Amino acid sequence: MADRRRLRTLLLPSPPLRQRFRRNLLAWYRRNGRDLPWRHTDDPYHILVSEIMLQQTQVDRVLPKYYEWLGKYPSLAVLAEAPPADVSKTWRPLGYNIRPKRLQAIARQAVADYGGRLPSDRETLLSFKGIGAYTAGAIQSFAFRKRAAILDTNVARVLFRIFVGKGDPKSHAVRKHLWAVSEAVLPHKHVFDFNQALMDFGATHCSARRPKCDDCAMSRFCRSAAR
Ligand code: SF4
Repeated sequence: MADRRRLRTLLLPSPPLRQRFRRNLLAWYRRNGRDLPWRHTDDPYHILVSEIMLQQTQVDRVLPKYYEWLGKYPSLAVLAEAPPADVSKTWRPLGYNIRPKRLQAIARQAVADYGGRLPSDRETLLSFKGIGAYTAGAIQSFAFRKRAAILDTNVARVLFRIFVGKGDPKSHAVRKHLWAVSEAVLPHKHVFDFNQALMDFGATHCSARRPKCDDCAMSRFCRSAAR
């Protein structure tokens, strides 16, 4: 019985519900989306830098470093050639200091194997050490405008709260299910805006500690809405 209940919980949202979610999310984004510099570029390298910097780091700390980094290393080729000590120093004080090393390793692989460019297909992106499923989806949808799902901490929280509600959001089964939900709700058009909206909604509206359920377009169908 408990298993049957859990399986029911992990069903994908119905097509009408997906439609409603997309519509509400995009309307919310039009009113509340943040104006961030990586939303004005389709350069895969710039997107990569922003995504790696944003891992575990708040936007306001990333912004000055993003400009500084791109001023100093304007391309993958320049980053590949830079002295590693200089790269690590430039990164400070963002923390999680494995990240500049990963970025430089990606740059070197791109220069060695792909003419200094990042490829656009998922399998090749995933072959880079330091590019996981989330970053590959972000590069595909933000730089190459492909229909690719994303699932970072913010997106996982939003999708879990709205479409799952109960269980352990970190369990392998739920995580796998959330990837399937992220793919299922992805529209065929406006993928760039939709994925940016998902991330913003999780960062500023359905945040970890203070979700704004009282004023939320999703509250009528959200499985975790505080009522
Ligand atoms: S109703 Fe609350 S938990 Fe659900 S999406 Fe909105 S803010 Fe998040």
